[in-house]
Amino acid sequence: MSHVKTLCLGLVVVVCGSLAISVTAQQAPQAPPPITMKMLKPDVWAGLGGAGGNSTIIIGKTGVIVVDAKQTEAGAKDLLAQIAKITAKPVTTAIITHSDGDHLNGLVAFPAGIKIIAHENNKKEQEAALAAGGRGAPPKDRLPNQVTTKKKESITIDGVKLDLYHFAPAHTSGDLVVYLPAQKIVSTGDIVVTNRADDNPNIHFEKNGSTEGWLTNLKGMIALNADTYVTGHGDLLTKGDLQRKLAATTERRNKIAAMVKEGKTVDQIKAALPDAPAPGAPPRGAAPAGGAAPARGAAPAAAAAGAGGRGGAAALTFVETAYQEITKGTKK
Ligand SMILES: [Zn+2]
Repeated sequence: MSHVKTLCLGLVVVVCGSLAISVTAQQAPQAPPPITMKMLKPDVWAGLGGAGGNSTIIIGKTGVIVVDAKQTEAGAKDLLAQIAKITAKPVTTAIITHSDGDHLNGLVAFPAGIKIIAHENNKKEQEAALAAGGRGAPPKDRLPNQVTTKKKESITIDGVKLDLYHFAPAHTSGDLVVYLPAQKIVSTGDIVVTNRADDNPNIHFEKNGSTEGWLTNLKGMIALNADTYVTGHGDLLTKGDLQRKLAATTERRNKIAAMVKEGKTVDQIKAALPDAPAPGAPPRGAAPAGGAAPARGAAPAAAAAGAGGRGGAAALTFVETAYQEITKGTKK
């Protein structure tokens, strides 16, 4: 009897398994890529990849705080399922690092009524994207319900001490850096990412991001007593990695500023300063790795993805953004 049962069960598993495989194959484009969960401290995890940006998961006394919420409902459900594997506590708080859809549109799958914390400019950008409508607009019933307006706000949520920093606009006007002083962990949002083909920071000029503000943010993050940085996309980084990025970008921006002073045009500067490939990025002309973000200038599809999604309109390169900022400064 038990043999027969086992056989039947085995058969069911095989049949269901092959059904599942064929369904998965048909729906392959919709299935979110897997999330990699990494324990950083007993109470802090990184949820890397999946659909959208990286998340940081902090387990409090009675509930869970999640920094960034993935891009889609399916992607966020996947994240919540991963969280359920590490703790039975419910998600009670989301902190959103900036207004791009790939970090917050998954909030639609989060429990209703949770606390959603963001910088006030993030909320304004979401409201603007919501008013503009279209693909990629944020979920209207999951707007931030607690905004921070200061350069630094120290809060304790569910026994967890967090410092929220808005050093300056960098990736967007409403960037929020989340620092866990006891665990020495920083969630950088997209101010720092490792998935780009070139070595430049990703600045949304159309969301009032700033290359100068980016430098301020890197200095601020490096000054924190931290040893692990959860980036917006890609890998975890160390303080040394951030120092290298800061040095490279400072040098690049100084060169741009010097050429502006010499009266060079933006096209001349772009020609003189081709984008350096990011460390570990595939060589130029190679097929992009699966899941990697498209390089700047090669991304009309991303630009067309909607104002609420990845920042709308034409994305400027780092040189173009820095040029705009620096020339604006000199015309004062
Ligand atoms: Zn972003």
